[in-house]
Formats: sequence, C-alpha cells, structure tokens
Amino acid sequence: MKRKILLIEDNEQNRYLTTFLLEKNGYEVFSASDGPQGIELAGRILPLVILLDIQLPSMDGYAVARELRNNPVLANIPIVAVTSYAMSGDREKIIAAGCDGYIEKPINPDTFVAEIERYITEARKDTRL
Ligand code: MN
Repeated sequence: MKRKILLIEDNEQNRYLTTFLLEKNGYEVFSASDGPQGIELAGRILPLVILLDIQLPSMDGYAVARELRNNPVLANIPIVAVTSYAMSGDREKIIAAGCDGYIEKPINPDTFVAEIERYITEARKDTRL
C-alpha cells in the first residue's frame, strides 16, 4: 500500500509541482483545492501528513488546521503549512492554529521531500509506531 499524503492547495501550478515531487518519491498524493474538500478527504484517506496552503478561498488555512485538530480521528496527523506568509508573527499563528511547522514558498525541489519526511518521522516517534 502506498504512503498517502494530502495536499490542500488552490494554486494549480503549486499542486502540480508538489504532486510531481512526491509521486517521484513513491508517495500517493491526494489533493483538494479548498478547505472543506480537504477536511472531507482527510477523514476518508487518513494520510501520513497534510500539506496545507494558508491562503485558500472561503476558508483559510488557519481555520482548516483548527478544524482538523478538533477532529479526534485526525488530531494526530502532522500538518505542515506551505506558505509564502512566513513573515514575523506568522510562524506563531501557524503553530497556534495547530500546524506542526511550515515550509516556505517557493518550495525548493531539492529539499522539499526530505523536509516533509522529517515531519512524518517526528510524528511516528511521538506515537511510537
Ligand atoms: Mn493559495
């Protein structure tokens, strides 16, 4: 069974690049272009990690992270914000919303997958899998 990753991102080019990099490394990528669709998908596929854009239509990434964290079934899945908003103060907002960390856009194709895997490994340690 392939390792599943959920990507919540409204920009098609970003979805394309992220999906390409992860699939090349053997992951199965499910993507949603808005928060409600992403939350629904998370519950169905129970991914290893959720990659979350912050600037999304209708429901922003902070609200999506809070809702994921309030669902006991999804509460332990790591959430990594992928955002160009990483300016002073935003890191705190991202963490306060329930994300485990963030990666800055534009993503670096050479290090992106390794960074994501670091979050997956940390989560495994925490839950002693
Ligand atoms: Mn966006």
